[in-house]
Amino acid sequence: MKKTLLFVICLSFLSISFAQKTYIWCGSLIDGISNNVRSNMTIVVEKNMIISVENGFRTAGTEDKTIDLKTKTITPGWIDMHVHLESETKKGGVADRFTKNPADIAFEATKYATVTLSAGFTTVRDLGGSGVNISLRNAINNGIVTGPRIYTTGKAIATTGGHADPTSGYRKDLMGDPGPKEGVINGADDAYHAVRERYKEGSDLIKITATGGVLSQTKDGAGAQFTEEEIKAIVTAAKDYGFKVAAHGHGAEGIKRAIRGGVNSIEHGTFMDDEGIDLMKKYGTWLVPTITAGKSTADSAKIPGYYSDIVTPKALVTGLQIQATFAKAYKAGVKIAFGTDAGVFKHGLNWVEFGYMIEAGMQPMDAIKAATINAAELLGERDKLGSIEVGKLADIVAVDGDPLTDLKVFGKVIFVMKDGIIYKQ
Ligand SMILES: [Zn+2]
Repeated sequence: MKKTLLFVICLSFLSISFAQKTYIWCGSLIDGISNNVRSNMTIVVEKNMIISVENGFRTAGTEDKTIDLKTKTITPGWIDMHVHLESETKKGGVADRFTKNPADIAFEATKYATVTLSAGFTTVRDLGGSGVNISLRNAINNGIVTGPRIYTTGKAIATTGGHADPTSGYRKDLMGDPGPKEGVINGADDAYHAVRERYKEGSDLIKITATGGVLSQTKDGAGAQFTEEEIKAIVTAAKDYGFKVAAHGHGAEGIKRAIRGGVNSIEHGTFMDDEGIDLMKKYGTWLVPTITAGKSTADSAKIPGYYSDIVTPKALVTGLQIQATFAKAYKAGVKIAFGTDAGVFKHGLNWVEFGYMIEAGMQPMDAIKAATINAAELLGERDKLGSIEVGKLADIVAVDGDPLTDLKVFGKVIFVMKDGIIYKQ
């Protein structure tokens, strides 16, 4: 009797030491690397890693778990390179800046994070907020909040009065004079200071607002707002800390300064000219298009009172240009990584971007790669993320249907695994 008991105890220890594996049966597999779709495959996951990808539906061991997705299409978890998880658009939302406490922002952000993950986006770049986005990343990493893996800029860096100067549009006595600590710089010395502040706060990368923006409470939505010298200083300082630099850019001149200044990605790219496209190819700069943001802000601007009077005309003009510029850049061979600017529209609708990219002439498989392996490369995490290959983190999504032939299928995510944990099934 005692011997049997001991044997059972030993066995249970053994089963703990031999971790349970998960066998995922895939009807169709898009792996993020190949242009071919493979049928009837099995992905084997152990802990948080993909340990094998095999032909056929393999039989799991008795200790293991099987997930039957034989009628579904499986892709790597999607990556949205441009979101803002601290907020979500609403009519008159500009008033929130004066009424919401950081805790209010944080509670709402947890909801947006959950919705984003559930839509199939297992990784995002949060490109600017108040710093709550850093705490949100930490809470997700610690398993306190459910959400995607976040790479965040914390606070974006602007110049005085620029897009992302946190007090632009305030009443004069409230404006103050924010500096590098608050993400506002003037000159190269400030640029270093601001990057170092982001490092101190725990950011993962740097974002600058190289041009005016649509939703800031100032007149100009596209003009250059950094000197090339300032951008070079930001990029040089960022390299010291292993930061990549993303540059928000609508107008042609500011975009060109950012590319020559050495940033890694141009966000939006709205009014980029042919010279800008050539420069992107020359410098190997990525374009993160955010077509959905352009279209949705233009739509919202038609609703009376949705935006302030200074924002509405900018939203009407800027938004609609993004898709056409994206089409040109894609055709020219500019590197594209998927990004939406979610928050400017409703979180969880990030998948709509796939349709806009494909509608603009992108091959459906290229659109999927933009949201998987290309995005992983721009993140600097190609060895860990962006494909279904042995040795990658187990970020896996399944959709109901064929996303290569039906755009609506991107909105039919029925399975989400992040880091080996199933969040939706
Ligand atoms: Zn944005």
